[in-house]
Amino acid sequence: MSQIKYNVHSERAEEFIHDGEIRATLEYARENRNNRALIEEILTKAQEGKGISHREAAVLIEVEDKEIEERIFDIARRLKEHIYGNRIVMFAPLYLSNHCVNGCVYCPYHAKNKTIPRRKLTQDEIRREVIALQDMGHKRLALETGEHPKLSPIEYVLESIDTIYSIKHKNGAIRRVNVNIAATTVENYTRLKDAGIGTYILFEETYDRAAYERLHPTGPKSDWAYHTEAMDRAMLGGIDDVGVGALFGLSNYRYDVVGILMHAEHLEARFGVGPHTISVPRIRPADDIDPKDFPDAVTDEVFRRIVAVLRIAVPYTGMIVSTRESKRSRELVLDVGVSQLSGGSKTSVGGYAEDVDSTAESAQFDISDERTLDEIVGWLLELGYIPSFCTACYREGRTGDRFMSLAKRGLIGNCCAPNALMTLAEYLEDYASPAVKVAGGKMIDKLTRVIPSEKIRRITEENLKAIIEGKRDFRF
Ligand code: SF4
Ligand code: SF4
Repeated sequence: MSQIKYNVHSERAEEFIHDGEIRATLEYARENRNNRALIEEILTKAQEGKGISHREAAVLIEVEDKEIEERIFDIARRLKEHIYGNRIVMFAPLYLSNHCVNGCVYCPYHAKNKTIPRRKLTQDEIRREVIALQDMGHKRLALETGEHPKLSPIEYVLESIDTIYSIKHKNGAIRRVNVNIAATTVENYTRLKDAGIGTYILFEETYDRAAYERLHPTGPKSDWAYHTEAMDRAMLGGIDDVGVGALFGLSNYRYDVVGILMHAEHLEARFGVGPHTISVPRIRPADDIDPKDFPDAVTDEVFRRIVAVLRIAVPYTGMIVSTRESKRSRELVLDVGVSQLSGGSKTSVGGYAEDVDSTAESAQFDISDERTLDEIVGWLLELGYIPSFCTACYREGRTGDRFMSLAKRGLIGNCCAPNALMTLAEYLEDYASPAVKVAGGKMIDKLTRVIPSEKIRRITEENLKAIIEGKRDFRF
């Protein structure tokens, strides 16, 4: 029998993502999937909005009763409304380079793929990409790059971040750069922190070590422990907003839901702050990748349950869904927990300035939601959501435990709501189509009137007037 014990405080991946504990949790969930008394207890706890444990979440994932499923959705919906209101934060990915030394079998950028055109953006090309993104209205980017120590070393990433922040085209500005690069050292995380990044994002892909090692046969990423301990090093390096995620469909989704939550519990236990975001990508077709090769692919129904259970388990963690998802499936998960969406995305290197199709040979994955950012903004408004381009927190130093303490006391909404209205107003003035401008204007009028604090309402109204007069970048 293995001597390795589960230890949420440990710095060793095999102890905080403990395979035995995950398997025991899945067994416990299977045994209790019809245990009415236990399920009622978990639902009561869930309603309080303080989160539930990985074991409790696993039971909710396993429940078969449709009536209970509806109650899970209902609780997730109410928690989301309470914490996030109807705001959805918008962002776009920016791919810098698709050179990669790893062998991830589900990604067309893997080193052995000889059919894909390889490319790394120069600083001038990055400038063009950023101008194209600013001209769409984006303020928040997720920077993505393959792992290549020679072609995209940390210095290249840091220089690119500087370039991105330096560009001010017309009224545009990228105000927050989140970074999704390969696991690295504490020193490099400190350099990223000093470069002013928002969130450091790294997907675990799958928490199941055996599956992980099969799916990552070569390259530095094949080291499961080094990859899994990356968020600990990021925190030690001074980055306190980290974003975790699993690529659903690579392996058993139940295992990965439990893994995500144990990862969150570990970061909370060791550093006092859980992940800032959880991403829930699903496996998609791409050059050289056929989803049929992945029998664990999750259906829309299961996907919705996963999002709802994560929302209940970690109510204060942002949840991100990308344009990998179709309009329909995005609608299903917005309702029960997702709080951030990408829009108008290109998943190929240089895709924005050149306006290439998402099925281009150089794309990392095919996009299901091909709509423009303006179409997505219009659609969200129609559904009753406020698309928000807010980036205020990290610029105001509200990160890590400072952010979480405000969020957990239910106070962050006092900032989010007016910030959403003001950044949407900027979008409407500078980038929206006439129809979206009208719809957005109505939403802003309606919601400004109901801001509870008179002082915040008055300042917001003044700022909204100033935005119409051409001033920019107000925030709480
Ligand atoms: Fe490289 Fe990332 Fe693709 Fe793996 S998933 S092959 S590390 S770009
Ligand atoms: Fe996010 Fe902070 Fe803006 Fe709210 S105020 S939307 S938490 S950046």
